[in-house]
Amino acid sequence: MDWGYEGSTRRRTCMLMVTHACNLNCSYCYESYKKNAYMSLDLAKEIILREVQFVKESDQFDELEIDFMGGEPFMNFPLIKAIVEWLETGVIDVPWICFATTNGTLLTDEIKSWLREHKDNITLGASYDGTGQMQLTNRGTDKHNIDLAFFHELWPHQALHMTISKETLPTLAEGVLDIQTHGYNVEAALAEGIDWTINDALIYREQLNILKNAYLKNSALTPFNRLTRFINVYDLPATEKVQKKWCGTGKYMVTYDIDGKRYGCQMFTPIVLGKDKALLSDAVEWDSPESTADDYCKSCVLRNFCPTCPGFNYKYRGHLAVRDKSWCPMVLAEAITACEFQVELIATIDKLDEKDAQHGLAALQAYKALQHLDIMKSQSPYTI
Ligand code: SF4
Ligand code: SF4
Repeated sequence: MDWGYEGSTRRRTCMLMVTHACNLNCSYCYESYKKNAYMSLDLAKEIILREVQFVKESDQFDELEIDFMGGEPFMNFPLIKAIVEWLETGVIDVPWICFATTNGTLLTDEIKSWLREHKDNITLGASYDGTGQMQLTNRGTDKHNIDLAFFHELWPHQALHMTISKETLPTLAEGVLDIQTHGYNVEAALAEGIDWTINDALIYREQLNILKNAYLKNSALTPFNRLTRFINVYDLPATEKVQKKWCGTGKYMVTYDIDGKRYGCQMFTPIVLGKDKALLSDAVEWDSPESTADDYCKSCVLRNFCPTCPGFNYKYRGHLAVRDKSWCPMVLAEAITACEFQVELIATIDKLDEKDAQHGLAALQAYKALQHLDIMKSQSPYTI
């Protein structure tokens, strides 16, 4: 069973905000300060050369990933094209790869043909929100404006990224299965900055259950990420203060804005926070427990399962560590269903490998503890 890619910690990720412009206006977009502004090619090259030097001098990194970000990065396709072709001339001497996250709606025939030629050096991750109606509801764009088959042809292992909004939650299972039956993988996340309710959590549980049953019935479908995460409610760090850090913000990754200023990640840049609140990378102690540990959560058994993003915490609650408590019932619904799925799935595997066994055992232990919690009545922080 494939439990998901865990990433290489030897890879430095350098994000370039190549534009602050976007052609869409998604309902959940957290980039509140979009505008027509672009990074120059000379600045992008200068940053990459500096990052290459950093990787070469570092004991920690061997390779460089250059992520083109926006806004919608393809609003600045000339820069993407020029950088990839420049790198292909062999101008840098560390292993490199380029990546761009895109809404996929700006790929003309000319851009597609260029991507086909350079697909080994640049990978695209497309966002797509489910059925045609879900895409229209969240993103205001028709499903025909994105050529999913093209993405699948060039990067077959790359999952489509789906954002779940309050409006599309009731059709989550239909949306995920619609995409998966066409052969694409899906990774989904709940939208941030939403006031999730107990009722939403009950709907979420119902939708996850439909997906759980579909995956158990049809092994040809790859279970989506919300049901396969490792669930450990016992073996948590001894120090209550320490909570799992979820990403490489400020450590494995760095973001350069269109003017070359450095941030821990895109979430701290002016396009997200406005220029007065934007937080430069050097202004934050990324490793300190204060940056990652929420006092409210220190006794919660789901504290290492519950996703937390310092960037969203800072944008919506003004502190890097403070999580959104409207997520608690949603996280509980997800944890219980994921436990049930993993336990039932393990029972169907003939030959377990070590990772299967670890997942199965942790899920079984977690299930014994979590089944006593009630999505409607139990109050967070959840204890057992
Ligand atoms: S495509 Fe991305 S940047 Fe553009 S509006 Fe949607 S979420 Fe925001
Ligand atoms: S479920 Fe709620 S209390 Fe538990 S870790 Fe997440 S936000 Fe904190």
